[in-house]
Amino acid sequence: MDDTTFRISEIFRSIQGEGPSAGSPAHFVRLQGCGVGCHWCDTKYSWDAGGGRAMAASEIWNEARALGDAPLLVVTGGEPLEHPGLAALLGLALERCARVEVETSGIAPPPLCHARLFYNVSPKLPAATPAWERSWRASAAWVDEPNATFKIVVGDPPDADDALRLIAAHRLPAARVMLMPEGLTDPAVRSHAQALAGLCLEHGFRMSPRLHIWMWGAKRGV
Ligand code: SF4
Repeated sequence: MDDTTFRISEIFRSIQGEGPSAGSPAHFVRLQGCGVGCHWCDTKYSWDAGGGRAMAASEIWNEARALGDAPLLVVTGGEPLEHPGLAALLGLALERCARVEVETSGIAPPPLCHARLFYNVSPKLPAATPAWERSWRASAAWVDEPNATFKIVVGDPPDADDALRLIAAHRLPAARVMLMPEGLTDPAVRSHAQALAGLCLEHGFRMSPRLHIWMWGAKRGV
């Protein structure tokens, strides 16, 4: 399976900026290709499935580890679930890494379950993309995956109302929901976060930071 190739957008080592492991040093492997089309996407360079470079799984891990140590590997995109070989790739990652996280919009059920494999699932709100419903279709399977955290990006109205409605309709457990303020600048993230604080307090959701925006702004490879 090491011979299976994947289109890779970028490999780098940085600080996990979002979700339950925010603040942890991490290797990032960004897979190329995404058809979800969020208008606020900060990695539009990863959308073209034919972009990036072809790499075998073994080459991917070797390149990541050559960057130095980290306790966490983040497989992100693009949309990792659009890669049919993802389960095998994650299996190989688990042989090499203490903790693996996958950033996904949740368009398909979990490809692999493992005690050290975690999913940051970001189903989309209607204002984000015309394809938003696609990211909720497998929500029941993600609710059944205890290592899945739902990280929902919330911006201007009506996002907050839509988030509450969809969280309830899909029975997402509040303790596993994180609301993440939308924005590509620190003032925009802060403004949305202040608007979301009350919802977190009222419903028992967590707030996800966007540390990479706070530290570096909308910059690639950090
Ligand atoms: S699913 Fe992720 S990579 Fe794809 S468009 Fe949305 S934010 Fe960007």
